[in-house]
Amino acid sequence: MSGGGGCLKCGRDAITFIRYSGARLCSDHLKEFVDKRFKKQVRLQTDIKRDDLICVAVSGGKDSLVTLSVLKKMKDEGLPIRLEAIIVDEGIDGYRPEKVEWAQTHCDNWDVKLHIMSFERTIGASLDTIMASQPKMAACAYCGVFRRTCLNTKARELGAKYLATGHNLDDIAQSALMNFCSGDLERMNRIGPHDHVIEGLVPRIHPLRGVPEKECLLYALIEGFEVEGSECPYSVDAHRREYLNMLQELEDAHPGTRHSIIKSMDMVRSLLNGESDHVVSDRSEALGRCPTCGEPTGGSSPDALCQSCKFICELGLDG
Ligand code: SF4
Ligand SMILES: [Zn+2]
Ligand SMILES: [Zn+2]
Repeated sequence: MSGGGGCLKCGRDAITFIRYSGARLCSDHLKEFVDKRFKKQVRLQTDIKRDDLICVAVSGGKDSLVTLSVLKKMKDEGLPIRLEAIIVDEGIDGYRPEKVEWAQTHCDNWDVKLHIMSFERTIGASLDTIMASQPKMAACAYCGVFRRTCLNTKARELGAKYLATGHNLDDIAQSALMNFCSGDLERMNRIGPHDHVIEGLVPRIHPLRGVPEKECLLYALIEGFEVEGSECPYSVDAHRREYLNMLQELEDAHPGTRHSIIKSMDMVRSLLNGESDHVVSDRSEALGRCPTCGEPTGGSSPDALCQSCKFICELGLDG
C-alpha cells in the first residue's frame, strides 16, 4: 500500500493513489469508492424484482469474495434479493480444495448457501485426470468450457435471475483487447454483462467491471479476506499473460486506458446488436440448443453439440 499525503475526502493517511483520477484515498474512502461503482453497475446491469435470486460464482479468490460481500451488504441494506453462491471444483489437487474451504468459511460467516459443483460428477472426470491423458493440451481450454457449463446448469436449476462473477476492470479490458486483436468480435459480444435474456442461459453480470484489480486487492485486504494462496498449477497461459503485460504498460503510460477499452467495447457491442445486420444482430436467434445436454450453443448448425459435449466425446467420458 502507498502513502504520501492525505486522503482527498477526509485528510487522514491515504493508503493509495488512484492515478486515473488523481485522488489519494484512505481505507474508508477507498471502500466507499469501490462500493459506489459496484452499486452503480448492479443498477445498470440488472432489473431486480422482489425475491429475485442472484447466484455468485465464487472461486475462493479475492474478486469473487469482494463481489459476494458487497452484494450481501446491499441485501442487508434493503435490496430485496435472495443470494446464493456456486463454486466449481475442477479437481485440481493441491489447489482447489483449499479455495473451496475458504469459500465455504466466508459463505458460512455471511449466511449464504454455497453449492459445490464438480467436474467429476458433472462431466465424469476431474481436470487432473483429463490432463493426465491429454498432456499436450492446454488445461484452461477444457477448464473454461466445463466451468461455464457447471455454473450455468446449477444457476438455471436454482432459478437464478442473474449469475454474478468477480471479473474486474483489468479482466474485462484484457478479454476485450484479446478478442479485438484476434478479430473475434462475436466472442467479444458474448462477454457479459448480458443485457438480453437468451433461453437457457442465465445472464451474467459483472458488478466489478469498473473497478481495477489493484483496488479490488486493497478492498480485500482492508476487509481481511484471504488473498494469498497457491496458484493453479496449470496457469501458464502465455498468450493471456502477454496481453496482461501489454495492458499494464499502456495503463502506466496512459492512465485510463482500461476504461477507454471497455468504453470502446460497449460502443462496438451496441453497433453489433443494434445496427449491424451482417455480424451478430441478435444472439437470442443465433443460439441453438445442444442435442445432448440441452445447454445453449453458439454452433453454426441448429443441432450442433455444445463445446462441453464435444470435449466429453473427444475425451471418451460419460458426462
Ligand atoms: S488457470 Fe486454467 S486450469 Fe487453472 S483454474 Fe484457471 S482456467 Fe482452470
Ligand atoms: Zn478518507
Ligand atoms: Zn452439450
